[in-house]
Order: sequence, then structure tokens, then C-alpha cells
Amino acid sequence: MSYQAGRPPTTPEDAIRQVRLACRILARHGQEDLTLGHASVRGPDGHTVWIKRKGRALRDVRKKDVVGIALDDPDGHLTPGAHLETIMHLETYRARPDVGAVIHTHPLYSIALGATTGGLELLSHDGLLFPDGVPVFDGTAGLVTTPGEGQGVARALGEGRAVLLRNHGILAAGPDISWAVLTALTLERAARIQYIARTLGETAPIPREVARELSVTKYREEFAEEYWQDWCGMLDHQT
Ligand SMILES: [Zn+2]
Repeated sequence: MSYQAGRPPTTPEDAIRQVRLACRILARHGQEDLTLGHASVRGPDGHTVWIKRKGRALRDVRKKDVVGIALDDPDGHLTPGAHLETIMHLETYRARPDVGAVIHTHPLYSIALGATTGGLELLSHDGLLFPDGVPVFDGTAGLVTTPGEGQGVARALGEGRAVLLRNHGILAAGPDISWAVLTALTLERAARIQYIARTLGETAPIPREVARELSVTKYREEFAEEYWQDWCGMLDHQT
């Protein structure tokens, strides 16, 4: 069985469906935190962002829980029903025309990693997705709710795939929803492996130059779509 592709959406309905699926996949992989956390997708018109609204857990996002916000609306983040931290998504899309999907969650090991100063070590194939490391946004330990703070997150992200929000969570960005989900899940796995490895002994990271080379074969463009199809299949088998 083939599921709707994790590529950039062709219609607003596709965008809404991708947001719903991404939220459920994130929940299925342990990134749910009460009704917090959100996924978004840039719509096919290029300037509408489709994003989960507040008040609903990731595992339970319905069609009506996904709202469209115009990127050129300076008050878009104040849309009724929008999460307080919607601004992080909007400022990331504004700063990065190449980004088609954004995720913000509160995964345990990534939060713990972001509360340290050492950063991500390249200890596993998961770490290979981030051969140049993962930057940290430390502009606030609180919620990111203002345009200035959102711009700070986007600046910290730079041209990267993800940013650790100090003491708070992660923001993952990708060209499409399959890459954004892959990034969010892989960062959390990499942080968890780092925690485990350090409890076992002195760590032996992959040299950065080697990691850059290996990253290309480990994370090929076509793989993200394959993984997306698999994640969607898992959801169908949930009882
Ligand atoms: Zn948050």
C-alpha cells in the first residue's frame, strides 16, 4: 500500500493531511507532551503555512485542528487558536525559502542535551544526519512567542536542519514533511544514544570529516520518502 507522499503538498488538503500525519508519527515515536508540540507545512502557494492549532494532543490532530496562516501577515502568529509558539515556524519559513516543513517538540533526551554545554557527539548513524553539529538557541529559556525571539531561533538554526532550544525542546526544519520528521526523530535518537554511551564509558565519536562523507550515503534523498511511507504504515497498524 502506498500512502500520500511526504513531498511538498500539491493542494491545501494535502498540506493539512501531512500535518496530521506528522503529528501522529511524532506521537507514535514518543514526542508527545500533553497538548504541546506542533508540525507545519508550507502550502503549495508558497506563502500559506498550515500548522497544528493548540488544545489538541499530537496523536489526536483532526482536520479542523490544522489552521492556515499567511506568511505576509505580521500578526499571523496571533491567529485565534494558534499555539503561542507559532512564531517560530513563521520566522523559520521567512528566513529559509528552502524550508517546506517545520516541527517543534519537547523530546526528553534532546531537551537534556540542550541543557548541557557539550553539544551533540557523532556517536552513531543517527548523529551522521548532523555532521556539523546542532546549534543551540539560548535567547530565552521560556516560550518563544515574539517575532524577535522567533527570528533568534531562525538565526540560530542558520542553514542547518535542527536547533536545540536551551532547556526547552527542538526545532527541526526540512525541505518537506518527510525530512522534517526524519530530522526530529533522528536528533532525539542521537541524543538518547549519547546518553546511553556516556553511561557505558568514554565515548569514541566519528571524526567530523568522516561523518560528512558518510552522511551523504546514509541520508539519501529517496530514503526520507521510504521512511515516511513506513511511518504512515505503522499508524495504520495502531489499535
Ligand atoms: Zn515549546
